Amino acid sequence: MYEGLLFVVSGPSGAGKGTICKRLKDKLNIDLSVSITTREPRPGEVEGVSYYYVSKDEFTKVLDEGGFLEYALVFGNYYGTPKESVMQSLKKGRDVVLEIDIQGAMQIRKTSPDAVFIFILPPSMSELRKRITGRGSETEDAINMRLGKALKEVSYIDKYDYCVVNGELNEAVERVAAIIKAEHSRVSEDIYDLIKMYKEELPC
Ligand code: ADP
Ligand code: 5GP
Repeated sequence: MYEGLLFVVSGPSGAGKGTICKRLKDKLNIDLSVSITTREPRPGEVEGVSYYYVSKDEFTKVLDEGGFLEYALVFGNYYGTPKESVMQSLKKGRDVVLEIDIQGAMQIRKTSPDAVFIFILPPSMSELRKRITGRGSETEDAINMRLGKALKEVSYIDKYDYCVVNGELNEAVERVAAIIKAEHSRVSEDIYDLIKMYKEELPC
């Protein structure tokens, strides 16, 4: 059986990664990895859906047990991708999307070179500010910190396979969905099984 494909989605905070990934889950029936974090839940976020919220000690315990596929310190909080659930989904042949920061993405590049890396960009910095402010969960200082980091992050874009500007939401979702579908049509080792079957079917 074919394994599912692993997709990594990164981009500045507020660019719309979470919004796009949620739409993709419904549209393509893919698995979204739920990260573990030490940050506090935002209003409206749901334990086990948005994140698993843990203390620093609990995070360290999972880390020491080798339970993370990758992890990083982002804006003063720890975030990590639980290894076991991602591996199980991939083994079942399901595609998995990781919505993670660049530090985590670079770790995945080393450990899973076949993963596909997608960078989500905002249409402008003023729109990015508007989206972060609109979320209503960050102080002015935190917003400025996220905007400053956004500029640094875009310099990593050449480490990614695709970039999608999230201007009009439906258009951005369509584009990321098209990338996921196209990746399933890559010429890869798996296709030789099908070609072998053609040969077996032919009477000789
Ligand atoms: P991220 O996951 O990248 O931090 P979110 O998905 O939380 O970003 O989006 C940040 C805010 O911007 C949310 O309030 C979301 O509803 C809004 N948003 C996302 N995409 C768009 C878009 N294409 N147009 C307008 N607002 C958007
Ligand atoms: P937020 O606090 O806005 O939900 O997320 C802050 C940043 O952490 C975002 O860039 C998000 O993609 C990233 N992030 C979320 N989960 C993970 C994870 O498991 N690993 C890493 N490396 N980054 C993550």
